[in-house]
This record gives sequence, C-alpha cells and structure tokens, in this order.
Amino acid sequence: MRKPIIAGNWKMYKTLSEAVDFVEQVKSQVPANDKVEAVVCAPALFLPTLVEAAKGTDLAIGAQNMHFETEGAFTGEISPTQLADIHVQYVVLGHSERREYFNETDEAVNKKAHAAFAHNLVPIICVGETLEEREAGQTVSKVSSQVKAAIKDLSSEQVAQAVIAYEPIWAIGTGKTATAADANEVCGEVRHAIAEEIGAEVAEKTRIQYGGSVKPANVEELLSMEHIDGALVGGASLEVDSYLKLLEAG
Ligand code: PEP
Repeated sequence: MRKPIIAGNWKMYKTLSEAVDFVEQVKSQVPANDKVEAVVCAPALFLPTLVEAAKGTDLAIGAQNMHFETEGAFTGEISPTQLADIHVQYVVLGHSERREYFNETDEAVNKKAHAAFAHNLVPIICVGETLEEREAGQTVSKVSSQVKAAIKDLSSEQVAQAVIAYEPIWAIGTGKTATAADANEVCGEVRHAIAEEIGAEVAEKTRIQYGGSVKPANVEELLSMEHIDGALVGGASLEVDSYLKLLEAG
C-alpha cells in the first residue's frame, strides 16, 4: 500500500511573513502522517524558519532545487549538505521550469537524485512532456526516458523511496488538467519504466504523483486512480484552505 503524498510547490511566491503565517495556520490541521504525507516546498530563503515553525508536526518542509555537489565554488547554489543540515526532508528535482529556464538536464537530475539520497533527502523527481510532444505521440517515450535517466544507478531501496511527479508541461499553471484517465495511463507508464529499469517489485513501491493544475475540485478523482499516489501542486497550494482540502483527499 503506497501512502499518498501531497506536496505544495510555492515556486517564487510569498514573503517570509506570509510563508510563516501559512505554516502556523496549517501545521495543527494537517492529517496524521500515517494517512497522508503533507509537504510544502518553499523558496530556499525561508527553509530554516519554516522547518523550525513546523518542527514536531506532521507538516514536512521541502526545497525546490539543489546542486549535486556537497560544497564548492558554485555561486548562488545550495548544496544537499546545507539542506540536510537544517533538517529539510524533501527536494524537488528536475521541475520543468528548471529544465526549461535553467537548462537542467537529465544527467544533472540523476546526479542530484544520487546526492539527495546520500544526504537522506527524499527527491521528488519531475518528468513530463510538452504539448508538441503529446500531439506528436511522444508522451510515453519522453516520460519513460526521463524516468530511466533520473533513476540510473540508484539502488532498489532508493528507487522505492523516491517520488516521481508526472507533470505534463502543458498542464502546469494553465488551468488545463489531464483527464484522470490520461494522467493515470501515463503514471502507469512511469511505473512500467521503473520496472524495466530496476524491477517490478520496486516499481510497485515507488510513489507517483500527478501535477498540473490540481485543485480541490479535481484532486479526489485524480487520487482515486490506480497509479496516482499523490499530487505536486503549484497554484492551489498557496492558500491555506485550498491546501488543507487537497490534504483531505489524500
Ligand atoms: C507545479 O508547480 O509543479 C504545478 C503543477 O503547478 P500548478 O499546480 O499551478 O499547475
């Protein structure tokens, strides 16, 4: 049985006081962790304060990116060592916005996945096709190759603990959601790619989220699907009420 995981991705939104206010309001209302994993992936600047604010509760704090090196001359970057040191638990890797605007490659995502596990961080690895790729019938080949590249040379235990977020790029922040059936079909292909790379038993354990305009009105149907074990949510994770409703569906 795979435990649902709902992760908010705040991107470059909120001030520090707004972020703290959100965590203060949400932390006592989060469902018990044995029912659903509740995560908020916040701007890096806020992470130490939010980890402290959420301490001892069932709300976990994640980062939205990190470098794969433990330290070094990489101006502006944040290392896995630094995230682990302040007790961040999750890190989003390979979000399509980072792939598109910051040239993040499959190879870098794989290095980051290895680095995450080396520092006890759970990676939320994003994959997904563009509209052009979908229309050209390339969805499965694109997503499968991204998944296989991301988990290359990870151990079975690590892949079982990883979270993969299937996020069709055309559905992110656009209000267009994949139908539950379409999302489930591609999430099933993600599981199939994991099985091909490392084995069916491991693939049954890996949690696969859907992301792309998930909101309280559609989250229940998406989560009822066989291969969808949670959601990675941008816009609808920014408001307390809406985030709590997403968690209720978990
Ligand atoms: C995201 O940021 O990963 C995302 C899916 O955004 P939204 O929910 O706003 O589409």
